[in-house]
Amino acid sequence: MPKLISVIVPAHNEAKNMPLLHTALQEVSDKIAYNFEFIFVDDGSRDDTVAVLKKLQKQDKRIQVIEFARNFGKEAATSAGLHASKGDAVVIMDADLQHPPSLLPKFIERWEAGGEVVVGVRRYSKKESAFKKMMSGWFYRIMQQIAHTHITPHATDFRLLDRAVVDEFNALTERNRMTRGLIDWLGFRRAYIHFEAPTRIHGEVAYTFTKLVGLAFNSFTAYSMLPLRLAGYIGVLILSIATPVGLFIVIEKYILNDPWGFNFSGPAILAFILLILVGIVLACMGLIALYIANIHNEVLNRPLYIVRRQQQATELAKEE
Ligand code: UDP
Ligand code: MG
Repeated sequence: MPKLISVIVPAHNEAKNMPLLHTALQEVSDKIAYNFEFIFVDDGSRDDTVAVLKKLQKQDKRIQVIEFARNFGKEAATSAGLHASKGDAVVIMDADLQHPPSLLPKFIERWEAGGEVVVGVRRYSKKESAFKKMMSGWFYRIMQQIAHTHITPHATDFRLLDRAVVDEFNALTERNRMTRGLIDWLGFRRAYIHFEAPTRIHGEVAYTFTKLVGLAFNSFTAYSMLPLRLAGYIGVLILSIATPVGLFIVIEKYILNDPWGFNFSGPAILAFILLILVGIVLACMGLIALYIANIHNEVLNRPLYIVRRQQQATELAKEE
């Protein structure tokens, strides 16, 4: 029996792209000796994506359509596809042909060579606006500094996952999810494939600037505790400067009776008392943040560790 490859495609208003994508997928699948299932997830489209998908389904029995009751977002659609998939390997790709289906054999090759997570890394085309490039550059720079999992710059959602990885992914319970980040958190052996994304032919980019900014902030808070601890750090910084200076002012003026003739004014003393108080308040907030961070981790309820494969004693005996 040839191995089964699941292809998962989240689609939101992609009526014009789906037939093109399906044709492209058919072409590739004809060329390689694998079985395929195509899982198309309609994420509350307002155009006739569903009708188009149903028509395609009649021509091709390998197509499975999951229809969302409303728009839940790409991350949710991808998760739904992963839950439904049965393949030995699962490939996630966009509907707009920006993740070229012709690369599928390459992904599978890397998987067969031992890559458990094969990641498509985007080479930036010249057509991309300088602003978008700059923003994404900054995003990855900040993420790399503050995130507790390694996140590869320009790694896309165009990925192949081994069955073991998909099973672990499906066991995650958190609601606020960025598929990429979660997959990166899982670990496993990775391989990278670089590709250039063509521009969209039909339809509009669903990820508007504001949505992207929202996603960026979500990633900061979901993959880093730094924003939570920031108040505490600022407080400690203020305290460490204001306390010695404040003490110096008080001792110099009232205990030593101003031997150096600084003649500190009342407002100056008041300012430092205020600074010290603000420092204490912020430091305490940081302390509370540490507790919240703990609660946050508990609520996420991620597993403590991820096992690649567990070999039973009987299996070991068989191998020997
Ligand atoms: N998408 C989705 N739900 C949404 C927005 C987008 O399922 O709410 C799908 C969309 O149909 C496409 C993929 O996610 O298959 C990527 O979307 P898009 O091309 O708009 O984003 P970008 O290319 O900027 O990543
Ligand atoms: Mg796109």
